[in-house]
Amino acid sequence: MQPANKEKLLKNLRCIQRSVDRHWVGDGFPVRTLFAYSNLDPLSISPFLLLDYAGPIDFPPTNQRRGVGEHPHRGFETVTIVYQGEVEHRDSSGGGGIISPGDVQWMTAGSGLVHDEFHSRDFAQRGGTFEMVQLWVNLPAKNKMASPRYQSILSAQIPSVSLPGGGVVRVIAGEFAGLRGPAKTFTPIHVWDLRLGSAQKIDLEVSVGHTTILVVLKGTVRVNESEAIKEAEIGLFDRVGTSIHIDCIKDATVLLLSGEPINETVVGQGPFVMNSLQEIRQAIVDYHSGKMGHLS
Ligand code: MN
Repeated sequence: MQPANKEKLLKNLRCIQRSVDRHWVGDGFPVRTLFAYSNLDPLSISPFLLLDYAGPIDFPPTNQRRGVGEHPHRGFETVTIVYQGEVEHRDSSGGGGIISPGDVQWMTAGSGLVHDEFHSRDFAQRGGTFEMVQLWVNLPAKNKMASPRYQSILSAQIPSVSLPGGGVVRVIAGEFAGLRGPAKTFTPIHVWDLRLGSAQKIDLEVSVGHTTILVVLKGTVRVNESEAIKEAEIGLFDRVGTSIHIDCIKDATVLLLSGEPINETVVGQGPFVMNSLQEIRQAIVDYHSGKMGHLS
């Protein structure tokens, strides 16, 4: 006799968000904002704030530095996942380095820092295809003024699991199939980087009560028999339910984001995300008075 199947409840797909604007961040990052707290109910996507998808786009070789110069952040974390090309980064807390394809940088801005983000010198001189994701993860009020922290996570440190029927899951944060991702997080978060093949079908178990967002970077998938979710589109799920069913229609690269919601007011302005306007004003004062440091 077979053991009884564990009771499964599909998470309902609440909406598909089609690709929105395209804009440049500095002169290095042509991004599409796939979701943002400024044009959705911030609590519906909490603890996530926004996701920018840069490229894929070809850059000709150059000796110039392409990217974005010194700027501050306070109150949240930036997670940079590089797929193609290379990013060079420095921050005022002493963090820095080169993020290569497959690597992830998980930066806690916390109480505040300044940083710059550029194409690496090598990549700029070589030229080629550039593709990366930057995800902003909110911090709970009690951790917004935590000391800045920089986690440089190399591709080799990220466990990967082969899926039945082909495909791979890289566990960047949280847990998948008993494997733990290397990223340290302030609240419970799972970030899975999946490659799926055409005609592949999988069931993913996702935590009950978590905000769950499926981000399609490449290819096409269908979830729970929905309409197709295509390149640069996202699916947002209800918090109830334990699993989602994915039918891959065209070879796909997708990110599955899942996190415990932070039920606190979100007030953001540019590079600062806090809980009140008063705290935003303080962040601006602190930045201009040099409290977030400078790059040497
Ligand atoms: Mn930045």
